[in-house]
Amino acid sequence: MTIKKENIEEFDAEKFSIPYVQMIKFMDAKFSTTECPQCGKDEGWTADTGNDEDNSDVLENMTLYKHGYVKSKVFRISVAMTCRSCGSMRIIAAQSVLDWIKETQEQQNG
Ligand SMILES: [Zn+2]
Repeated sequence: MTIKKENIEEFDAEKFSIPYVQMIKFMDAKFSTTECPQCGKDEGWTADTGNDEDNSDVLENMTLYKHGYVKSKVFRISVAMTCRSCGSMRIIAAQSVLDWIKETQEQQNG
């Protein structure tokens, strides 16, 4: 997700969340296999959850990572999971998950 310059100060992480259950549904819908592309094993993935020091939302929400551009205040937001066999990390653009959740909810609502 790219945030426009004038919106940087207004970005509110509290209003931006990806529920863990929705993330699982997204992966079921989008990924053809749960096999790890690096090691070829299918031992599952550990999704990163929790967004503050207290990890008070650890059971509910995906951890949101902020990838800052080196030469700018602009950044991109992602979620991550780790292969339980080899530790490879899978990074997924948060905006794609949010768009899918929105589309899916719109379809269900009518
Ligand atoms: Zn692996």
